Amino acid sequence: MAYDQNNVFAKILREEIPCAKIYEDEFALAFNDINAQAPVHVLVIPKGDYISMADFSANASTELMAGFFRAVGETARILGLESDGYRLIANTGSNAHQEVPHLHFHILSGKKLGPMLCR
Ligand code: 5GP
Repeated sequence: MAYDQNNVFAKILREEIPCAKIYEDEFALAFNDINAQAPVHVLVIPKGDYISMADFSANASTELMAGFFRAVGETARILGLESDGYRLIANTGSNAHQEVPHLHFHILSGKKLGPMLCR
């Protein structure tokens, strides 16, 4: 499957549509989810054309992979989530109901989230 340049996160990266930015560096952009599922719900996306975790883990450079994961942690730090904790979710492909075909990690927190979602 080819990367879709018109997916909504590609448009956010190109600044064609706005986002509520939390953090940005050369590797990643973090912004609030438009339809928050928890008091804190932030998305972190890599700067690059990667459809999913499957694509990213196979094809991204080591530098980008390291920078992206550092940015996920940095975003959580900026949000003040380290003491009470947070959950990371990266839906990958149809079984996981991935809706946007650009890799994104959800950071969820702000309350006790309950057990893992696997229904
Ligand atoms: P997925 O189901 O692919 O893991 O999650 C996609 C997420 O992107 C959803 O939580 C959805 O609310 C969020 N989303 C979809 N479109 C937009 C948008 O235009 N802006 C922002 N900030 N989030 C979006």
